[in-house]
Amino acid sequence: MNKHEDLYAQSKQQLDAYLDEHGLRHTQERYMLLKMMCELESPFTAEALVEEARKSNISRATTYHMMALAQKVHILHPLIKQFGDRRTQYEIVTHKNDHLQIVCLKCGRVADFKDPGVVKLLQAKKYSNFVMQNISLYVYGECKICRRKAKMLQENYLEK
Ligand SMILES: [Zn+2]
Repeated sequence: MNKHEDLYAQSKQQLDAYLDEHGLRHTQERYMLLKMMCELESPFTAEALVEEARKSNISRATTYHMMALAQKVHILHPLIKQFGDRRTQYEIVTHKNDHLQIVCLKCGRVADFKDPGVVKLLQAKKYSNFVMQNISLYVYGECKICRRKAKMLQENYLEK
């Protein structure tokens, strides 16, 4: 199973459980959209998903509806909301997630960072009166490009 299939299989399990529990229909569109979310390059914007869904004749409304549902199921997580809604990026997170996200606060760039050790550590934790489902980790800071830019600006300033 490749990475996308694996992600789809895990998130589908969580979606199915939620749909059954709430008496919601297992529509074909919901699974198609979930599959697209797993296959899009992560993280993705709502607009990228709408665009992809349009190719299969799935409406914007249905797409947004599914995104809201996936967030309720806790398989879809919004990232870096501080950059405004239009630029909010999303990613699929399941309980087998083993990476963390490094987010640049200056330019909004997001990168995956494999750190299974940290995730395992958290997964092994027990919190009283609480059952863990998913873990998502974000590390905020400044990326290499932004740091280089800042340094160049500073050097230019010093030369004058
Ligand atoms: Zn940056």
